[in-house]
Amino acid sequence: GSRPHGSTPLALPPKVTIEDFNSFIQSITEFLGADNVEVISTKEQIDDGTYMKPTYTHDPHHVMEQDYFLASAIAAPRNVADVQAIVKLANDLSFPLWPISIGRNSGYGGAAPRVRGSLVLNMGKNMNKILEVNVEGAYCLVEPGVTYKDMYDYLVEHNLQDKLWLDVPDLGGGSILGNTLERGVGYTPYGDHWMMHSGMEVILPTGELLRTGMGALPDPRRPETMGLKPEDQPWNKTAQLFPYGFGPYIDGIFTQSNLGIVTKLGMWLMPNPGGYQSYLVTIPREEDLKQAVDIIRPLRLTMALQNVPTIRHILLDAAVMAPKTAYSSKTEPLSGEELDEIAKKLNLGRWNFYGALYGPEPVRNALCGVIKDAFSAIPGARFFFPEDTPKDSVLRIRHKTMQGIPTYDELKWIDWLPNGAHLFFSPIAKVAGEDAMLQYAVTKKRCNEAGLDFIGTFTIGMREMHHIVCIVFNKKDPEQKKKAHWLIKTLIDDCAANGWGEYRTHLAVMDQIMGTYNWNKSIFLKFNEVIKNAVDPNGIIAPGKSGIWPRQYNKDEWVL
Ligand code: ADP
Repeated sequence: GSRPHGSTPLALPPKVTIEDFNSFIQSITEFLGADNVEVISTKEQIDDGTYMKPTYTHDPHHVMEQDYFLASAIAAPRNVADVQAIVKLANDLSFPLWPISIGRNSGYGGAAPRVRGSLVLNMGKNMNKILEVNVEGAYCLVEPGVTYKDMYDYLVEHNLQDKLWLDVPDLGGGSILGNTLERGVGYTPYGDHWMMHSGMEVILPTGELLRTGMGALPDPRRPETMGLKPEDQPWNKTAQLFPYGFGPYIDGIFTQSNLGIVTKLGMWLMPNPGGYQSYLVTIPREEDLKQAVDIIRPLRLTMALQNVPTIRHILLDAAVMAPKTAYSSKTEPLSGEELDEIAKKLNLGRWNFYGALYGPEPVRNALCGVIKDAFSAIPGARFFFPEDTPKDSVLRIRHKTMQGIPTYDELKWIDWLPNGAHLFFSPIAKVAGEDAMLQYAVTKKRCNEAGLDFIGTFTIGMREMHHIVCIVFNKKDPEQKKKAHWLIKTLIDDCAANGWGEYRTHLAVMDQIMGTYNWNKSIFLKFNEVIKNAVDPNGIIAPGKSGIWPRQYNKDEWVL
């Protein structure tokens, strides 16, 4: 429930007095209404919640102390003008704001701010409209609170599925806008979400409203003369069709960054391909990963593999089906023999390749033949369709995911351990057998040193793989939390030593990862700091996001 203003927050941002905090919250409450403002003033408000009932106060998958990354308050603006008013007040106090859309961001920090005491801006609560679904142009325009599930339901309710599909990540509860800003991935041919966006509307730290790409070109009907505010004006008719516009392409600087608050996003939807078939190839031996990845590279490059397929480690699938205790009484990491036993029991391989075919039957059959033929070079590889597998198989879940139907089943692997929580470690790898084997060996060794099972998946982009290592830990076991934190920090350094960097990360290691992107005296970070200080002179938007700190903060004091 909401707290009256005047209650004392558990956390205050640096250099903000309680008096300033109270008057700031009071002003915000006056225009947002008490229902849209909550001060975090008691420990009872810090509840990990569940995926279905997410928390906005802190990271429910806390690898540090539960309240380490804690908001002072949460505010939910109703519209662009509200955000502009909050931004104005924040500028007066250099008050840090942490914008989120849905705030699930599971494994990367949830809704929690990097700077303790920040005001979490819950953009999704009230600003959750699907503004347009355009069938002819195959795109949508959404506000922050529109989830994948919402968009799917919209297509179903409007009988549009025969025309348009969407791309969804592993879990359907995230926002289209937040996931795209984090450069998240899905598993259809449109799996690279950032690649598929077109046009953004952003509130700058000054409060000014910006539209990018073709959105910078005004509507010739001059809607301002009709009394429409900029945010309510129609977009240029090509804004969701051509993402680049004219001049410097600035969209990218609003991703994984802290330069603005995004209020609208255009996204391409996938035309219904006219046919679909998912499949699984089981790959028997651990070392077969090498050959499998080398088989995949040319197939993916030529788009014989049409979507973002995945090679999943046996334990990821095993964990979706049941907790560790269902397979073993051991608490230590499982051995190779034990993994083989689990694979046998589940009728899976040590690695399992999930892909799909899109298009009319003759197209699918032709591609299926090519793919089957290529994988048959691996001795013992087996090919399955969903109907060949048990009712609760992972293939039956992926069957939905790879056609853009949101699911929640993948949540279950978090319960591999009791009080299961997780962190994602996500380095990028070449689509090359040798690289995959080396990256797997490096990460597996460290997982085992930390006393944890290796659980992971390679998601295959056009020319690289996002290797997603799922670090599952018991969040009620302080020793194990320390080990999980040690593990991710060690992996970042190990991977950097091999020339591998991460595509996205949790709050706790943003600075460390930015530190590894240090080519030529860290010019990349320095350039980002120049932009940050120019665009956000009072350092109000998400200080510390991705390791980028405004000049008001001494970043040496924030090292974790
Ligand atoms: P999800 O919708 O997947 O739960 P979040 O809402 O938690 O994702 O957003 C993930 C991250 O993206 C946030 O931590 C924040 O850095 C950024 N973000 C999300 N929404 C916005 C927004 N409207 N403006 C600016 N940044 C945002």
